[in-house]
Formats: sequence, C-alpha cells, structure tokens
Amino acid sequence: MRCISLFSGSGGNSVYVEHEGTRLLVDAGVSFRRLCLSLESIGESVLDLDGVFFTHEHSDHVGALAMLLKKTDLPFYLDARSAEGAYEALLAKDPSLAAEFVRRTLTVAAGEEYDVGSLTLAPFSLPHDSAACLGLVFFDENGEKLLGIATDLGEMTTEARRALYGCSAVILESNHDLVMLENGPYPPYLQERIRSPFGHLSNPDCAAFLSLLIPGGLTRAMLFHLSADNNTPEKALDECRAVFGEKIALSVAAVDTPTPLL
Ligand SMILES: [Zn+2]
Ligand SMILES: [Zn+2]
Repeated sequence: MRCISLFSGSGGNSVYVEHEGTRLLVDAGVSFRRLCLSLESIGESVLDLDGVFFTHEHSDHVGALAMLLKKTDLPFYLDARSAEGAYEALLAKDPSLAAEFVRRTLTVAAGEEYDVGSLTLAPFSLPHDSAACLGLVFFDENGEKLLGIATDLGEMTTEARRALYGCSAVILESNHDLVMLENGPYPPYLQERIRSPFGHLSNPDCAAFLSLLIPGGLTRAMLFHLSADNNTPEKALDECRAVFGEKIALSVAAVDTPTPLL
C-alpha cells in the first residue's frame, strides 16, 4: 500500500491512497490545479484515480469538487448529509454541476463497508461541526486493517477508537497546542469552536488517542491537519513523545508538500 499526504491544514486537505492498482483520494480541499500538480509530483494523474472519498463538506476538504466534476468522470463517496450540503453549494453556483454531482455520488454511511477495487472502505462517524463527518478505515481482501484516517474531530469517541484500533498505520488530526490557541490571534468565539467536542483535536488529545492504539498493533502515525496559527510540528511531535516516547514511527504531514506515510 502507498499512502501519501498531499495537503494538510485549514488551507486544504488531501490524502492519496493506493493498493494493488486501486487509487483513491481522501478529500480534495485545494484548487484542482494544485491537486493535479501535487499528484504529478508523486508520479500519478488525477485521471487514473478510481474515486474521491470526501470526509465532510467543509471547503478545506471539497475545494476541488466543482472542477473535479468538470474535468473528470470520477465517482465520489460521501455521507448523505454532507452530500446534501455540497449539493446546495453547487446548486447556488451552477445547477448543471449540481445534477452531475448527484449522478456521480455514492452516499456512504458509518458502520457499513464498501468495496472499491482491491480495497474495502469502512467509514465511521467523527464528532465535528459539519453536516456529518466520517473517518475511514481501509481493509485489504483478507480483512486486515491497513490504514485508518481521522482528519477532523473535536474529541476521541469510543466509536473512533474502536474503528482505528488494530490499524498498523494511522493519520490523525493534531490540530492545536492549547497554550498557542489561548494566546493566539483567534477571537474567543473561534477558540471555543475549535476547543468544543465538535471542533478540532488538540495535541494532547491526539497523543492520548494514539497511545491507546499502540497495543492494537499501531506502528506508524502521521500527525495531520495542524493549525498554521496555533501549532507547530515540533510541539505536536513533542506532545506525542512525552506520552509514548519512541514506541512508533511518527511524522507530520507538511502543509502542501507530499509526505509519505506508507
Ligand atoms: Zn471541517
Ligand atoms: Zn478540516
């Protein structure tokens, strides 16, 4: 399996996943042009993808959607409530694109499993302030958990822990340092939103979450969706090291440079 973060953070998110000839993107939250260039830089083409899974309808995850509709024939996978949100946004812009979006969208639900080529996708719910938000576990043909992804979540939930437990590799949000958020440029209401159980996962919560996954066989993790204003890669890594030392291989997804996990 190959898994490469292409973009990470509030400026846009996208992860490339490939397994035995099946190629997927998880989110496409930057411009179509930047997405194409990034894929080219890792030797891939947007036209060779098998589909795009959208975790939720926030713009940092669906930014390329309109152009993906215009320039490709890819299928999209997303929760029905997020699809409704994305549909409304497209309808306001271009009704023909909204109709095309409906034609190409396969709605998925937490708790179900979906076969896409050589991969089985198992979405699960995440607590976040979108219409819906999904995390994702990838299984191979033998039912092995290959990879888990949880990009936007206000807190760790039992459902998310159960879903990710048993994955050998995980991409997990490590959004903010608590002190930087407190003293940073964000107004109180925005700080509250980020800190809420439906906002974004802090560094210590990410570290605690990962430490609970280690007994399940976790060997590598990539810290993802770091805030540019309220975090640094060093702080996010330090928080993890303080909790579980060097027990697993750790990396941080760069903002807009491809960063391989697998
Ligand atoms: Zn979001
Ligand atoms: Zn996001």
